[in-house]
Amino acid sequence: MRTRLDCIRLASTAPIQLLDITDQVRACCAASGIRDGLVTLISRHTTAYINLNEREPQLQQDMLTYLKRLVPRDGDYLHNLAPVDDRDNAHSHLLGLFMNASETIPIADGELLLGAWQSIFFVELDGPRPERSVTLQFIGQPAPDAAPDSILAPTPNQTPAGPAGGEG
Ligand code: ZN
Repeated sequence: MRTRLDCIRLASTAPIQLLDITDQVRACCAASGIRDGLVTLISRHTTAYINLNEREPQLQQDMLTYLKRLVPRDGDYLHNLAPVDDRDNAHSHLLGLFMNASETIPIADGELLLGAWQSIFFVELDGPRPERSVTLQFIGQPAPDAAPDSILAPTPNQTPAGPAGGEG
């Protein structure tokens, strides 16, 4: 059995944003050498989450509209009375009540077992942020011809590390 840590680094450019990270996760999966197993993705932030959903531009627009309506930015929030990092982000944390920080996806024959319409989104709720990250842990059986663990290189620009930036 093999385990491998990886990390996808991201920058968000809007207060609320859906970033499709499916291709990056697939690249990490290929680099892991795992043929059959699992990958757990975790957003180690308190104002950014992971969601599996359909990629369709109009739907992504609907999602942003819905999230802004669900928890308005301006509210009578106690958390904003003592903001950390000068961020009035109570609404971001409250939206996080309805999302997952992590997802686990099976891997079979070297491929992520996603549905045909499923994409993996990083959901920014308190952007823009120049340094966000998703940590991935792979576990499973390597392919017979996979490189030994000792010579596996990190995926380019994706070295394991904790979340960058401050609070949230
Ligand atoms: Zn906060």
